[in-house]
Amino acid sequence: MKCVICNSPHVENKLVEEEIHSGQDIVIVPIEVVVCMNCGERYYDRRMMRFLEETERKIANKQMNLSPVGKVLRPTA
Ligand SMILES: [Zn+2]
Repeated sequence: MKCVICNSPHVENKLVEEEIHSGQDIVIVPIEVVVCMNCGERYYDRRMMRFLEETERKIANKQMNLSPVGKVLRPTA
């Protein structure tokens, strides 16, 4: 397969961290997707889309065990 964005043939299955936003919070979910090594475009198949939707729903309903890994900071005025 070729990347539809940059036409590069260098696409690989990679473990990446998907960020799911939930209110003010960000949940980092490790997933394996096809990534373009040239431009970084990620390709999600149907199964992965469903998995992410399901994960989003679980996070929204607080049905997933989560632990903090860092802080989100912004400059003080
Ligand atoms: Zn690309």
